[in-house]
Amino acid sequence: MNIILLGPPGAGKGTQARRLMDKRGMVQLSTGDMLREARSSGSAMGKRVAEVMDRGALVTDDIVIGLIEEKLAGGAPGGFIFDGFPRTLAQADALEGLTERMGQELSAVIEMQVDDEALIERVTGRFTCGNCGAVYHERTHPTAVEGVCDACGSGDLRKRADDNADSMRQRLMEYYKKTSPLLGYYHAKGLLRSIDGLAAMDVVERAIAELLDRA
Ligand code: AMP
Repeated sequence: MNIILLGPPGAGKGTQARRLMDKRGMVQLSTGDMLREARSSGSAMGKRVAEVMDRGALVTDDIVIGLIEEKLAGGAPGGFIFDGFPRTLAQADALEGLTERMGQELSAVIEMQVDDEALIERVTGRFTCGNCGAVYHERTHPTAVEGVCDACGSGDLRKRADDNADSMRQRLMEYYKKTSPLLGYYHAKGLLRSIDGLAAMDVVERAIAELLDRA
């Protein structure tokens, strides 16, 4: 089963994708994570995209499609969770072509709905563990011991360069302009399901599980 988690930045796509990996053995494909990895490796592509990401703009379609194509080739018996991809209609078309060629299909596109003010609050307080990827929030979900990851004990806690209010407003604008048309696209294909992304993480997880059990 292959699914897309669709929603604005901060909607909780990454958190839920990680839960689906743990519980269902699916493989998360986050283009944001792939691009951050490329940046920190210092590769030529990483250098090219760094400034675009910090500004909150979208990286060009050919770069992200290339990244996804590479990962899809590895296959995933439990299926893929697309997190933060596709973000444009061109990416959605490319994904359709790639899955078709592999004899695979999309089972569901899950829209996580969250209002803008809640997103800005979530994202500006967010920090993550550089070692295991656990996600925290300065006010609503701090670590038990300051500076130490609850999940793995690492002291490598990081704030993303683009998790600030200015960049976030830009990212939201990009979402509404370029990504939200995908809601209509997947609705027309009969794949779109929507859930309340503002609910508690466990409630969101259950809502997704119910949708997948019915897909
Ligand atoms: P994310 O971690 O999904 O919020 O992505 C962080 C940043 O990476 C975005 O603001 C974009 O600059 C870039 N990015 C991630 N995924 C894509 C994509 N599918 N298309 C274009 N840019 C992307």
